[in-house]
Amino acid sequence: MPQKAEMITLIGAGLNGPLLALDLVKRGFQVEIYERRPDMRRVRMSAGRSINLALSARGIYALTQAGLWNDMQGIVIPMKGRMMHSTASEITFQPYGRNESDVINSISRGELNIALMNAAEEHGVKIHFQKRCVGMDMKNSVVSLQDEMTGEERGRTVDVVIGCDGSASAIRGEMVKRNRFDFSQEYLDYGYKELTIPAVAGGKHALDANALHIWPRGSYMLIALPNVDGTFACILFLPFEGKDSFEQLPTRELVLEFFGSRFPDAIALMPDLVDNFFANPIGSMVTIKCSPWHAEGKALLLGDAAHAIVPFFGQGINCGFEDCTVLLQLLDRHGADWNTVFREFENARKQNTDAIADLAIENFVEMRDRVGDPRFLFRKKVEFALQEKFPDRFVPKYSMVTFLRVPYATALKRGQAQDRILTALCKGIDRVNELDWPKANKMIYEQLTPLECS
Ligand SMILES: Cc1cc2nc3c(=O)[nH]c(=O)nc-3n(C[C@H](O)[C@H](O)[C@H](O)COP(=O)(O)OP(=O)(O)OC[C@H]3O[C@@H](n4cnc5c(N)ncnc54)[C@H](O)[C@@H]3O)c2cc1C
Repeated sequence: MPQKAEMITLIGAGLNGPLLALDLVKRGFQVEIYERRPDMRRVRMSAGRSINLALSARGIYALTQAGLWNDMQGIVIPMKGRMMHSTASEITFQPYGRNESDVINSISRGELNIALMNAAEEHGVKIHFQKRCVGMDMKNSVVSLQDEMTGEERGRTVDVVIGCDGSASAIRGEMVKRNRFDFSQEYLDYGYKELTIPAVAGGKHALDANALHIWPRGSYMLIALPNVDGTFACILFLPFEGKDSFEQLPTRELVLEFFGSRFPDAIALMPDLVDNFFANPIGSMVTIKCSPWHAEGKALLLGDAAHAIVPFFGQGINCGFEDCTVLLQLLDRHGADWNTVFREFENARKQNTDAIADLAIENFVEMRDRVGDPRFLFRKKVEFALQEKFPDRFVPKYSMVTFLRVPYATALKRGQAQDRILTALCKGIDRVNELDWPKANKMIYEQLTPLECS
């Protein structure tokens, strides 16, 4: 397989970088990572690191293949469904799937990052911190690295570079300069802010720990994911400007008034709300699509660097880890024939990463607006009933994306067909036992083939 002496240089020790590095080292490559930030195991990191992620099937598969998932059980909390909080503080629970095992797993981004870096280093990966990639001379295979402490810049000649440097990728910044490089970026006019619900007496969670809590409010929302230390990592998603926006919350009084009237049961659990609110920055969210992801068989983009998506399907890192799975399968097949591996990688992934980008935008509307709507909840019940009756053909879109490793493009396409079937079957009824089963049978057999998935 590999020319073992070959050195692979990764840019970025976020989430994808260390996982990929570990898997490459196990295959006999030498791997080094350059990371612009200080080592978060030694330096307290600022906002952004306290966000929790929802890990699901694709992420878990990649972590299992790398031999890491079992050891992570102590740092994840399974969430069985969405717990919706109304303005009147009423709570409704909506399970994610029909099986007990249909859960998503809350994990602190920082803890996950640390576990991955530790594992990579234990296997011999060298991570160089505070070294920012500021460019690459593709022709001569030289990466420019700037020391973040001294400002000194030096060139490093490399064999192969993989840009795992996130949505503002410097490696992609070089590719953009090349002829016929397609690139689009679309920012949401919404921002997000991290907040916290602290643990209550005895280190216990203030809310049910096995759920993702949502306060859906039509054009905006608050969510909370549990941490193993009893806290909840919350994210407030609001428009930047206009009605009910960040722009309208410049003072402590206005923040308190906004939360008190919109999220009354949450504010009661957030004693440090105002301090958190003004201490944490407002993050932005972007969808990035580009192509080609590779150049000259020397450089490749992977993860958010190639395809950043908005966070509303909880798939960014699951998708990135699936990138790692696919890249490794191709390496196992072709060895270090980088041109072939990189080309086939993009061929296999691009339509799927485009699809999850679109699904993530679609899910934003569902989460902030529709999850509180009784009609939507009824459709969910019908979905589960259809899945029960036709388990190999009618699988809810959320399950295909989250609990199975069905290609995202397939999930998108089948999801659209299923939505049309659901709309037709739900019309004029409001109880599952009123379903027209012969019609359901006919539509499903005519429009949906048996679902194939790994
Ligand atoms: C609010 C929010 C919630 C999210 N929730 C979820 C979720 O529930 N589930 C999920 O699957 N995904 C979620 N995501 C998405 C997920 O965080 C990303 O998809 C994931 O972090 C991408 O991993 P990455 O390694 O590609 O990039 P990153 O994690 O961004 O890592 C990139 C690394 O590269 C470093 N770097 C950047 N530029 C340079 C440079 N020039 N030189 C050297 N180093 C550099 C950075 O410091 C960083 O360490 C969420 C994202 C956000 C913003």
